[in-house]
Amino acid sequence: MPSGRRSNRRPYGMPVAPLDVERARGGRTIESGPDGEWVVQRVRGSERTYRCPGCDQAILPGTAHVVAWQADGLLGQEAALDARRHWHAACWAARDRRRPTRR
Ligand SMILES: [Zn+2]
Repeated sequence: MPSGRRSNRRPYGMPVAPLDVERARGGRTIESGPDGEWVVQRVRGSERTYRCPGCDQAILPGTAHVVAWQADGLLGQEAALDARRHWHAACWAARDRRRPTRR
């Protein structure tokens, strides 16, 4: 009996690419706004529900939307990332008109 092949079972789960990888590959753009430069990341959907600061409505899981954070955050990239916001794509596009209340 050959001893070198003890594994003809597949590993239980192939590692699934984490969402962050997809995010990193997805369209990430820098957009200038009235309140500075923003990194805008388009995502296909999350597992969580977020509240869109543009319309104050929920972004349901699985809904494509954008995540935005300040590219030139005064507190540094980590703080800016930490303070990122999830927006409906349309609300993000319209935020200039809406003049979102910040804080
Ligand atoms: Zn919205």
